[in-house]
Amino acid sequence: GKGIAVFTSGGDSQGMNAAVRAVVRMGIYLGCKVYFIKEGYQGMVDGGINIVEANWSSVSSIIHLGGTVIGSARCQDFRERVGRMKAAKNLINRGITNLVIIGGDGSLTGANLFRQEWSSLLDELLANGEITPEQRNKYRVLNIAGLVGSIDNDFCGTDMTIGTDSALHRIIEATDAIISTAYSHQRTFIMEVMGRHCGYLSVVSALTSEADFVFCPESPPPEDWEKRLCTKLEQERTAGQRLNIIIVAEGAIDREGKAITAEQVRKVIVENLHQDTRVTVLGHVQRGGSPSAFDRILGCRMGAEAVMALMEAKEDTVPCVISLDGNQAIRLPLMDCVKRTQAVAKAMANKQWEDAVDLRGKS
Ligand code: ATP
Repeated sequence: GKGIAVFTSGGDSQGMNAAVRAVVRMGIYLGCKVYFIKEGYQGMVDGGINIVEANWSSVSSIIHLGGTVIGSARCQDFRERVGRMKAAKNLINRGITNLVIIGGDGSLTGANLFRQEWSSLLDELLANGEITPEQRNKYRVLNIAGLVGSIDNDFCGTDMTIGTDSALHRIIEATDAIISTAYSHQRTFIMEVMGRHCGYLSVVSALTSEADFVFCPESPPPEDWEKRLCTKLEQERTAGQRLNIIIVAEGAIDREGKAITAEQVRKVIVENLHQDTRVTVLGHVQRGGSPSAFDRILGCRMGAEAVMALMEAKEDTVPCVISLDGNQAIRLPLMDCVKRTQAVAKAMANKQWEDAVDLRGKS
Protein backbone atom coordinates (compact mmCIF):
# COMPACT_ATOMS: atom_id res chain seq x y z
CA GLY A 1 0.00 0.00 0.00
CA LYS A 2 0.93 3.65 -0.33
CA GLY A 3 2.77 5.39 2.48
CA ILE A 4 0.91 8.29 4.07
CA ALA A 5 2.08 10.46 6.96
CA VAL A 6 0.02 12.88 9.01
CA PHE A 7 1.35 15.70 11.18
CA THR A 8 0.24 18.86 12.93
CA SER A 9 2.23 22.10 12.73
CA GLY A 10 2.04 25.65 14.09
CA GLY A 11 -0.48 26.59 16.80
CA ASP A 12 -2.74 23.83 18.08
CA SER A 13 -6.54 23.88 17.86
CA GLN A 14 -9.43 21.74 19.00
CA GLY A 15 -10.50 19.19 16.40
CA MET A 16 -6.98 18.42 15.14
CA ASN A 17 -7.19 15.00 16.82
CA ALA A 18 -10.41 14.19 15.01
CA ALA A 19 -8.64 14.98 11.75
CA VAL A 20 -5.61 12.85 12.64
CA ARG A 21 -7.91 9.99 13.58
CA ALA A 22 -9.81 10.21 10.29
CA VAL A 23 -6.61 10.28 8.23
CA VAL A 24 -5.29 7.19 9.99
CA ARG A 25 -8.49 5.19 9.73
CA MET A 26 -9.37 6.20 6.17
CA GLY A 27 -5.80 5.45 5.13
CA ILE A 28 -5.80 2.01 6.72
CA TYR A 29 -9.27 1.31 5.33
CA LEU A 30 -7.93 2.02 1.83
CA GLY A 31 -4.95 -0.26 2.34
CA CYS A 32 -2.25 2.34 3.02
CA LYS A 33 0.56 2.28 5.53
CA VAL A 34 -0.09 5.31 7.73
CA TYR A 35 2.51 7.07 9.87
CA PHE A 36 2.37 9.76 12.53
CA ILE A 37 5.04 12.39 12.39
CA LYS A 38 5.34 13.77 15.91
CA GLU A 39 6.21 17.39 16.77
CA GLY A 40 5.48 18.79 13.30
CA TYR A 41 8.30 19.51 10.88
CA GLN A 42 10.84 19.03 13.67
CA GLY A 43 9.89 15.37 13.88
CA MET A 44 10.16 15.04 10.11
CA VAL A 45 13.67 16.52 10.14
CA ASP A 46 14.80 14.53 13.18
CA GLY A 47 13.20 11.25 12.10
CA GLY A 48 13.89 8.28 14.41
CA ILE A 49 11.19 7.72 17.02
CA ASN A 50 9.32 10.78 15.76
CA ILE A 51 7.97 8.88 12.77
CA VAL A 52 5.91 5.86 13.83
CA GLU A 53 3.46 3.65 12.06
CA ALA A 54 -0.12 4.08 13.23
CA ASN A 55 -2.70 1.38 13.60
CA TRP A 56 -6.47 1.41 13.96
CA SER A 57 -6.41 1.52 17.75
CA SER A 58 -3.63 4.08 18.10
CA VAL A 59 -6.23 6.76 17.36
CA SER A 60 -8.87 5.40 19.72
CA SER A 61 -10.05 7.76 22.45
CA ILE A 62 -8.58 10.94 21.03
CA ILE A 63 -11.58 12.46 19.24
CA HIS A 64 -12.77 14.17 22.43
CA LEU A 65 -9.38 15.67 23.33
CA GLY A 66 -8.33 19.26 22.65
CA GLY A 67 -4.89 20.17 21.29
CA THR A 68 -3.00 17.62 19.24
CA VAL A 69 -1.85 14.32 20.76
CA ILE A 70 0.94 13.92 18.20
CA GLY A 71 2.46 17.24 19.20
CA SER A 72 3.08 20.41 17.24
CA ALA A 73 6.08 22.70 16.98
CA ARG A 74 7.63 25.58 15.15
CA CYS A 75 10.75 24.43 13.37
CA GLN A 76 13.63 26.58 12.20
CA ASP A 77 15.47 23.61 10.57
CA PHE A 78 12.69 23.08 8.03
CA ARG A 79 13.10 26.64 6.79
CA GLU A 80 16.61 25.65 5.56
CA ARG A 81 17.23 23.38 2.59
CA VAL A 82 19.55 21.18 4.67
CA GLY A 83 16.67 20.49 7.06
CA ARG A 84 14.32 19.67 4.22
CA MET A 85 16.93 17.25 2.78
CA LYS A 86 16.97 15.37 6.08
CA ALA A 87 13.17 15.36 6.13
CA ALA A 88 13.02 13.98 2.57
CA LYS A 89 15.45 11.20 3.44
CA ASN A 90 13.45 10.22 6.52
CA LEU A 91 10.28 9.99 4.42
CA ILE A 92 11.92 7.98 1.62
CA ASN A 93 13.40 5.53 4.13
CA ARG A 94 9.87 4.68 5.18
CA GLY A 95 8.30 4.81 1.73
CA ILE A 96 6.21 7.87 2.54
CA THR A 97 5.23 9.98 -0.47
CA ASN A 98 1.89 11.28 0.72
CA LEU A 99 1.55 13.94 3.39
CA VAL A 100 -1.45 15.29 5.23
CA ILE A 101 -0.48 18.47 6.97
CA ILE A 102 -2.72 20.12 9.53
CA GLY A 103 -1.64 23.68 10.32
CA GLY A 104 -1.84 27.36 9.50
CA ASP A 105 -0.75 29.27 6.40
CA GLY A 106 2.94 29.20 7.38
CA SER A 107 2.92 25.42 7.67
CA LEU A 108 1.10 25.05 4.35
CA THR A 109 3.59 27.38 2.64
CA GLY A 110 6.42 25.19 3.91
CA ALA A 111 4.66 22.09 2.56
CA ASN A 112 4.26 23.65 -0.86
CA LEU A 113 7.93 24.58 -0.99
CA PHE A 114 8.86 21.02 0.01
CA ARG A 115 6.80 19.65 -2.82
CA GLN A 116 8.34 22.06 -5.35
CA GLU A 117 11.83 21.10 -4.24
CA TRP A 118 11.20 17.38 -3.89
CA SER A 119 12.75 16.38 -7.19
CA SER A 120 15.94 18.36 -6.63
CA LEU A 121 16.20 17.15 -3.03
CA LEU A 122 16.05 13.58 -4.30
CA ASP A 123 18.68 14.29 -6.94
CA GLU A 124 20.99 15.61 -4.26
CA LEU A 125 20.34 12.63 -1.98
CA LEU A 126 21.08 10.30 -4.89
CA ALA A 127 24.29 12.16 -5.77
CA ASN A 128 25.38 11.86 -2.12
CA GLY A 129 24.66 8.14 -2.19
CA GLU A 130 22.00 8.49 0.51
CA ILE A 131 19.25 6.92 -1.60
CA THR A 132 19.35 4.37 -4.41
CA PRO A 133 18.40 5.00 -8.06
CA GLU A 134 15.44 2.67 -7.49
CA GLN A 135 14.25 4.82 -4.59
CA ARG A 136 14.80 7.98 -6.65
CA ASN A 137 12.48 6.61 -9.30
CA LYS A 138 9.91 4.91 -7.10
CA TYR A 139 9.36 7.91 -4.82
CA ARG A 140 9.69 10.66 -7.41
CA VAL A 141 6.35 12.32 -6.63
CA LEU A 142 5.32 13.84 -3.30
CA ASN A 143 1.58 14.39 -2.88
CA ILE A 144 0.29 16.88 -0.37
CA ALA A 145 -3.11 17.65 1.12
CA GLY A 146 -3.49 20.41 3.70
CA LEU A 147 -6.09 20.98 6.40
CA VAL A 148 -6.38 24.27 8.20
CA GLY A 149 -6.29 24.05 11.97
CA SER A 150 -6.70 27.48 13.55
CA ILE A 151 -9.04 28.91 16.16
CA ASP A 152 -9.01 32.31 14.44
CA ASN A 153 -10.87 31.34 11.24
CA ASP A 154 -8.25 33.37 9.42
CA PHE A 155 -7.70 31.31 6.27
CA CYS A 156 -9.08 32.21 2.84
CA GLY A 157 -11.00 29.57 0.92
CA THR A 158 -12.72 27.76 3.75
CA ASP A 159 -15.85 28.84 5.60
CA MET A 160 -14.54 27.47 8.88
CA THR A 161 -11.12 26.37 10.10
CA ILE A 162 -10.78 23.46 12.51
CA GLY A 163 -10.99 24.79 16.07
CA THR A 164 -12.90 28.03 15.55
CA ASP A 165 -16.26 26.70 16.68
CA SER A 166 -14.81 25.24 19.90
CA ALA A 167 -13.00 28.48 20.70
CA LEU A 168 -16.28 30.33 20.25
CA HIS A 169 -17.97 27.94 22.67
CA ARG A 170 -15.23 28.58 25.21
CA ILE A 171 -15.64 32.35 24.83
CA ILE A 172 -19.40 32.17 25.16
CA GLU A 173 -19.21 30.02 28.29
CA ALA A 174 -16.83 32.53 29.85
CA THR A 175 -18.96 35.50 28.81
CA ASP A 176 -22.09 33.90 30.24
CA ALA A 177 -20.27 33.37 33.52
CA ILE A 178 -19.09 36.97 33.57
CA ILE A 179 -22.56 38.27 32.77
CA SER A 180 -24.11 36.71 35.87
CA THR A 181 -21.58 38.25 38.21
CA ALA A 182 -21.63 41.58 36.33
CA TYR A 183 -25.41 41.67 36.75
CA SER A 184 -25.20 41.26 40.52
CA HIS A 185 -22.80 44.16 40.99
CA GLN A 186 -23.88 46.36 38.06
CA ARG A 187 -20.43 46.13 36.53
CA THR A 188 -18.98 46.70 33.10
CA PHE A 189 -16.71 43.98 31.74
CA ILE A 190 -14.24 44.16 28.92
CA MET A 191 -13.38 40.75 27.52
CA GLU A 192 -10.25 40.36 25.46
CA VAL A 193 -10.55 37.50 22.97
CA MET A 194 -8.08 36.02 20.47
CA GLY A 195 -7.86 37.00 16.81
CA ARG A 196 -4.73 38.89 15.87
CA HIS A 197 -5.62 39.58 12.25
CA CYS A 198 -9.11 38.23 12.05
CA GLY A 199 -12.17 39.55 13.84
CA TYR A 200 -14.31 36.45 13.47
CA LEU A 201 -14.11 35.35 17.12
CA SER A 202 -14.69 38.85 18.47
CA VAL A 203 -17.60 39.70 16.18
CA VAL A 204 -19.44 36.41 16.54
CA SER A 205 -18.91 36.27 20.29
CA ALA A 206 -20.17 39.87 20.57
CA LEU A 207 -23.30 39.02 18.59
CA THR A 208 -24.03 35.88 20.57
CA SER A 209 -23.41 37.39 23.99
CA GLU A 210 -25.43 40.59 23.44
CA ALA A 211 -22.32 42.70 23.91
CA ASP A 212 -22.71 46.48 23.75
CA PHE A 213 -19.55 47.19 21.79
CA VAL A 214 -16.91 45.29 19.87
CA PHE A 215 -13.43 46.23 18.68
CA CYS A 216 -11.99 44.10 15.88
CA PRO A 217 -9.01 44.38 13.50
CA GLU A 218 -10.89 44.72 10.19
CA SER A 219 -13.18 47.48 11.28
CA PRO A 220 -11.36 50.16 13.25
CA PRO A 221 -13.87 52.45 14.97
CA PRO A 222 -14.43 56.09 13.94
CA GLU A 223 -12.04 58.63 15.45
CA ASP A 224 -14.56 59.71 18.08
CA TRP A 225 -15.01 56.14 19.33
CA GLU A 226 -14.44 57.08 22.95
CA LYS A 227 -17.44 59.40 22.90
CA ARG A 228 -19.58 56.89 20.98
CA LEU A 229 -18.69 54.12 23.39
CA CYS A 230 -19.56 56.17 26.46
CA THR A 231 -22.83 57.41 24.95
CA LYS A 232 -23.85 53.86 24.09
CA LEU A 233 -23.01 52.50 27.56
CA GLU A 234 -24.85 55.34 29.24
CA GLN A 235 -27.93 54.80 27.06
CA GLU A 236 -28.01 51.13 28.03
CA ARG A 237 -27.79 51.89 31.73
CA THR A 238 -30.46 54.59 31.47
CA ALA A 239 -32.70 52.06 29.74
CA GLY A 240 -32.38 49.84 32.80
CA GLN A 241 -29.54 47.50 31.86
CA ARG A 242 -27.53 46.47 34.94
CA LEU A 243 -24.31 45.61 33.16
CA ASN A 244 -22.27 46.21 30.04
CA ILE A 245 -20.12 43.83 28.04
CA ILE A 246 -17.47 44.99 25.61
CA ILE A 247 -15.46 42.59 23.45
CA VAL A 248 -11.96 43.53 22.35
CA ALA A 249 -10.03 41.36 19.88
CA GLU A 250 -6.36 41.07 20.75
CA GLY A 251 -5.59 42.57 17.32
CA ALA A 252 -8.01 45.51 17.64
CA ILE A 253 -6.68 48.76 16.18
CA ASP A 254 -7.72 52.35 15.58
CA ARG A 255 -7.84 54.05 12.19
CA GLU A 256 -4.16 54.88 12.40
CA GLY A 257 -3.34 51.22 12.90
CA LYS A 258 -2.43 51.67 16.57
CA ALA A 259 -3.51 48.96 19.02
CA ILE A 260 -6.66 49.47 21.06
CA THR A 261 -6.20 47.51 24.25
CA ALA A 262 -8.72 46.32 26.82
CA GLU A 263 -6.93 48.39 29.47
CA GLN A 264 -7.20 51.52 27.34
CA VAL A 265 -10.95 50.96 26.91
CA ARG A 266 -11.29 50.44 30.67
CA LYS A 267 -9.61 53.77 31.41
CA VAL A 268 -11.92 55.60 28.99
CA ILE A 269 -14.98 54.19 30.75
CA VAL A 270 -13.73 54.79 34.28
CA GLU A 271 -12.63 58.35 33.56
CA ASN A 272 -15.82 59.33 31.76
CA LEU A 273 -18.57 57.27 33.35
CA HIS A 274 -17.09 56.20 36.70
CA GLN A 275 -18.51 52.73 36.20
CA ASP A 276 -17.05 49.78 38.09
CA THR A 277 -15.16 48.33 35.12
CA ARG A 278 -13.09 45.14 34.96
CA VAL A 279 -10.94 43.49 32.30
CA THR A 280 -10.94 39.74 31.67
CA VAL A 281 -8.33 38.35 29.28
CA LEU A 282 -9.42 34.90 28.18
CA GLY A 283 -6.04 33.89 26.73
CA HIS A 284 -5.20 30.26 26.13
CA VAL A 285 -8.41 28.99 27.70
CA GLN A 286 -9.85 29.63 24.23
CA ARG A 287 -7.53 27.08 22.64
CA GLY A 288 -8.06 24.39 25.23
CA GLY A 289 -10.81 22.06 26.33
CA SER A 290 -12.69 19.47 24.36
CA PRO A 291 -13.65 20.11 20.75
CA SER A 292 -17.26 20.90 19.89
CA ALA A 293 -19.35 18.43 17.88
CA PHE A 294 -18.93 20.71 14.87
CA ASP A 295 -15.13 20.64 15.06
CA ARG A 296 -15.07 16.88 15.56
CA ILE A 297 -17.16 16.33 12.46
CA LEU A 298 -15.24 18.96 10.52
CA GLY A 299 -11.94 17.26 11.42
CA CYS A 300 -13.35 13.84 10.47
CA ARG A 301 -14.70 14.98 7.12
CA MET A 302 -11.61 16.95 6.18
CA GLY A 303 -9.25 14.17 7.23
CA ALA A 304 -11.15 11.60 5.18
CA GLU A 305 -11.34 13.90 2.16
CA ALA A 306 -7.58 14.58 2.39
CA VAL A 307 -6.82 10.87 2.09
CA MET A 308 -9.19 10.56 -0.88
CA ALA A 309 -7.45 13.50 -2.56
CA LEU A 310 -4.05 11.86 -2.07
CA MET A 311 -5.28 8.54 -3.45
CA GLU A 312 -6.65 10.24 -6.55
CA ALA A 313 -3.59 12.48 -7.12
CA LYS A 314 -1.71 12.18 -10.40
CA GLU A 315 1.91 13.12 -11.00
CA ASP A 316 1.01 16.67 -11.96
CA THR A 317 -1.71 17.28 -9.34
CA VAL A 318 -0.97 20.44 -7.34
CA PRO A 319 -1.14 20.34 -3.54
CA CYS A 320 -4.66 20.97 -2.33
CA VAL A 321 -6.26 22.32 0.78
CA ILE A 322 -9.48 20.74 1.99
CA SER A 323 -12.08 23.44 2.52
CA LEU A 324 -15.59 23.74 3.78
CA ASP A 325 -17.79 25.44 1.22
CA GLY A 326 -21.33 25.68 2.52
CA ASN A 327 -21.78 22.17 3.82
CA GLN A 328 -19.48 20.61 1.26
CA ALA A 329 -15.89 19.44 1.75
CA ILE A 330 -14.04 20.56 -1.38
CA ARG A 331 -10.44 20.64 -2.65
CA LEU A 332 -8.83 23.94 -3.61
CA PRO A 333 -5.32 24.64 -4.90
CA LEU A 334 -3.29 25.16 -1.73
CA MET A 335 -1.13 28.03 -2.93
CA ASP A 336 -4.06 30.08 -4.25
CA CYS A 337 -5.58 30.06 -0.79
CA VAL A 338 -2.27 30.81 0.93
CA LYS A 339 -1.63 33.72 -1.45
CA ARG A 340 -5.07 35.16 -0.82
CA THR A 341 -4.59 34.81 2.93
CA GLN A 342 -1.30 36.69 2.63
CA ALA A 343 -2.96 39.35 0.46
CA VAL A 344 -5.50 39.92 3.22
CA ALA A 345 -2.69 40.42 5.74
CA LYS A 346 -1.02 42.88 3.38
CA ALA A 347 -4.22 44.86 2.83
CA MET A 348 -4.70 45.09 6.59
CA ALA A 349 -1.12 46.26 7.08
CA ASN A 350 -1.80 48.96 4.46
CA LYS A 351 -4.97 49.99 6.32
CA GLN A 352 -7.14 48.88 3.38
CA TRP A 353 -9.68 47.25 5.62
CA GLU A 354 -12.52 47.04 3.13
CA ASP A 355 -10.25 45.37 0.59
CA ALA A 356 -9.18 42.90 3.25
CA VAL A 357 -12.76 41.94 4.04
CA ASP A 358 -13.61 41.67 0.33
CA LEU A 359 -10.61 39.46 -0.36
CA ARG A 360 -11.39 37.18 2.54
CA GLY A 361 -15.03 36.88 1.57
CA LYS A 362 -14.36 35.65 -1.95
CA SER A 363 -14.37 31.87 -2.27
P1 ATP B 1 -0.33 29.57 13.11
O1 ATP B 1 -1.38 30.20 12.25
O2 ATP B 1 -0.83 28.84 14.26
O3 ATP B 1 0.83 30.50 13.43
P2 ATP B 1 1.32 28.53 11.02
O4 ATP B 1 1.33 27.23 10.31
O5 ATP B 1 1.04 29.74 10.19
O6 ATP B 1 0.30 28.39 12.19
P3 ATP B 1 4.11 29.21 11.37
O7 ATP B 1 4.88 29.42 12.63
O8 ATP B 1 4.03 30.30 10.39
O9 ATP B 1 2.68 28.71 11.84
O10 ATP B 1 4.74 27.93 10.61
C1 ATP B 1 4.93 26.72 11.27
C2 ATP B 1 6.19 26.05 10.74
O11 ATP B 1 6.06 25.83 9.33
C3 ATP B 1 7.45 26.87 10.89
O12 ATP B 1 8.00 26.77 12.17
C4 ATP B 1 8.34 26.27 9.81
O13 ATP B 1 8.92 25.06 10.26
C5 ATP B 1 7.34 25.93 8.71
N1 ATP B 1 7.32 27.02 7.71
C6 ATP B 1 6.58 28.16 7.74
N2 ATP B 1 6.84 28.94 6.68
C7 ATP B 1 7.78 28.29 5.96
C8 ATP B 1 8.49 28.56 4.74
N3 ATP B 1 8.27 29.68 4.04
N4 ATP B 1 9.38 27.64 4.31
C9 ATP B 1 9.62 26.52 4.99
N5 ATP B 1 8.98 26.19 6.13
C10 ATP B 1 8.10 27.06 6.63
